[in-house]
Amino acid sequence: MTAIAPILPETIQLAVSTLRRGGLVAIPTETVYGLACDATNPDAVARLYEAKGRPRFNPLIAHVASLPMAQKEAQFSAAASHTAAMLWPGPLTLVLPVAEGGTVCDLARAGLDTIALRMPAHKGARDLIEAFGKPLVAPSANRSGHVSPTRAEHVKADLDGKVDLILDGGPCEKGIESTIVSFVGERPQLLRAGALETSVLDNFLFGGIARGGEGEGITAPGQLKSHYAPDATLRLNAETPEPGEGWLGFGPGPHMGLNLSPSGDLHEAAARLFAALRALDGRYDRIAVAPIPNEGLGEAINDRLARAAHRD
Ligand code: AMP
Ligand code: MG
Repeated sequence: MTAIAPILPETIQLAVSTLRRGGLVAIPTETVYGLACDATNPDAVARLYEAKGRPRFNPLIAHVASLPMAQKEAQFSAAASHTAAMLWPGPLTLVLPVAEGGTVCDLARAGLDTIALRMPAHKGARDLIEAFGKPLVAPSANRSGHVSPTRAEHVKADLDGKVDLILDGGPCEKGIESTIVSFVGERPQLLRAGALETSVLDNFLFGGIARGGEGEGITAPGQLKSHYAPDATLRLNAETPEPGEGWLGFGPGPHMGLNLSPSGDLHEAAARLFAALRALDGRYDRIAVAPIPNEGLGEAINDRLARAAHRD
């Protein structure tokens, strides 16, 4: 049974200690209730994916309480800074190149070199992030495939026992997800329509925003990859590495290269996946990857490996 508590200074402190331990806390925002955890802790993020039952690792939105917190995580162009200064806090997510020294973990970004950031308008959410002192990832607090929750009771109905604490801030004001705009390319691009009307952005940004969504109308290749794509070629479900191949193991097996989890723990493997791929990608042209059981978090790991192996 997960407790539902109103947002008060005491319950914010309880939430902070839960988050510090790597726990999951459902929080109200002006869009929908989010399932929050420490964005810098890959074990906590793996737990979050597990609780949602997501069959893949989508990059998550990191929620910040202030502009300085955001600037530590991402590189802001002049247009992005202007947009953030005018429209944050609010239901607008900015996708930006990740900053050197950023603290949000690889797994939360699904291995991408870009990061999605938002400063929520909900005062309780910002108070919590401020008290925690680090960004929180917070995808909608529902099981994968279910509708997004706009009340604390919805979260309870969907995730009871899977989340450590639910903070109740009443019904969500907007009830739909944030608008997502990328500032990675030359022209700001709408990636998802959402609670902030796009006409606001069109009026406000010189030249307006490009539409068409992720993957379309992109001029420079690699500008907006929706998944982690290594330079190396991946060979999946390999028993052993061939000469010249880097090795990414799982479970007991050849003692060489890197191992996602020598004990065969999928949770640990998920937490290490992207950092391990990056490390091998820098050293090898080809990487052989051991079979990963396709159950629990293994499904999401295999989904991302299959995408990373695909040459496009
Ligand atoms: P939500 O499920 O509301 O947390 O929204 C997450 C959305 O943000 C997903 O649709 C992601 O694809 C998108 N997103 C997060 N990070 C990035 C990124 N680095 N690049 C592009 N889209 C992103
Ligand atoms: Mg959702």
